[in-house]
Amino acid sequence: MNEQMKSLQERDKDVIWHPFDQAKHTEIIPIVRGEGVYVYDENGTAYLDGFSSWWVNLHGHAHPKISQAIAKQAQQLEHVAFGGFTHLPAIEVAEKLLHVLPRHFSKVFFSDNGSTANEVAIKIALHYYFNKGEKRKRIVALENGYHGDTFGGMSVTGRGTFTRPFEPLLFEVDYLPLPTKENAARCLQQMTSYLENKDCAAFIFEPLVQGAGGMMMYEADVLDQLIELCKNKGVLTIADEVMTGFGRLGKYFAIDFLHHQPDIICLSKGITGGFMPLGATVVTQDIFMAFYGDNPLQTFLHGHSYTGNTLACAAASANLDIMQLPETWQNIQRITTNQSKFNAELGTHKGVKVARSLGTILAVELVSNEATSYFNPVGKIAYSRLLEKGVIMRPLGNVLVFIPPYCITNDEMDKVYAALKEVLDEMYC
Ligand code: PMP
Repeated sequence: MNEQMKSLQERDKDVIWHPFDQAKHTEIIPIVRGEGVYVYDENGTAYLDGFSSWWVNLHGHAHPKISQAIAKQAQQLEHVAFGGFTHLPAIEVAEKLLHVLPRHFSKVFFSDNGSTANEVAIKIALHYYFNKGEKRKRIVALENGYHGDTFGGMSVTGRGTFTRPFEPLLFEVDYLPLPTKENAARCLQQMTSYLENKDCAAFIFEPLVQGAGGMMMYEADVLDQLIELCKNKGVLTIADEVMTGFGRLGKYFAIDFLHHQPDIICLSKGITGGFMPLGATVVTQDIFMAFYGDNPLQTFLHGHSYTGNTLACAAASANLDIMQLPETWQNIQRITTNQSKFNAELGTHKGVKVARSLGTILAVELVSNEATSYFNPVGKIAYSRLLEKGVIMRPLGNVLVFIPPYCITNDEMDKVYAALKEVLDEMYC
């Protein structure tokens, strides 16, 4: 058949391999445009983007301020190598980030996505001790954590479904359980014993919410104590805020809930408002200075062709301006209140094993005969039924996640809640 006669769906099927899903069982929907919280298919059917397109979109699709910033930048300079050159958008993004981050952060290293932001952080931590002449190589991480799909990211990710085929090639990591109040004693005792080992280099964690691991939420207390223990032993701490950053939890960053601050923070996803791929690994001056000197081996020999891409930085700069508007924070507050109210209502539903909310995130763990896991099929059933009702709520196994763009209205949230309740009633009552 002539390519032009085929539907977009057919043409896609012929040539594209999509991420994460089993191609044999997945129906792909072509999307032709987006506006606000909605994306639209070829027939004009609107879908409310209830998962912010993989948690990246902050202020709505095709937001005019960000799209104009990219268009303007594209006409002036689309890209220039970040080796030996710089440009205003990158400088502005770094300045704006450092302005909203805690004061001890000092330098921004750009990369392309969340995985690379973490990969860079891990390499910087190990290289830091190499430069200091200390033999430290072990990393502490949280069970069930997720830090990306590159090999370093996978190594520090909790071992499981995503990492199984690569298991023999991943470097060994010391794991702690989720630092909840219930696990406090075990966490602190295990961390203390890991730290007795002189070769411990770093502790990496998703602060307050483990995203891909099923939106597992925990309070700041125990994490704070773990960071303090690391600081006392000179072990670097890395906050992976790829998902939690930029207001998702109600404050600018999850680390804003902590007393003890990490040495490195990894950012991506919302950094450009969901427009362009960009990663940022932000470090302290002490870390930067460990790489600064006359010995060539001290240099951080890492970078990507698109490091500091001008268009991505223009998008991020515009996004960071929108983040400064009082209206953005009013929306975040409003969404937080709605989510928390609905969370309380939902908790008693027959089909809900447990519902939890933190900031703008609502996670609904569905009742199932099978254990909670990424391959639990129940979430997919709910997903399809929600899609029929015009709501996109991509599940993590049997955990449904509602994490909307901040421009969503109360009416739109109510529609999502109603759709969710209907689907739960259909499935369980
Ligand atoms: N860290 C966290 C906490 C994440 O949630 C994700 C993505 N879901 C990543 C890292 C990886 O980011 P990316 O998909 O942009 O590589």
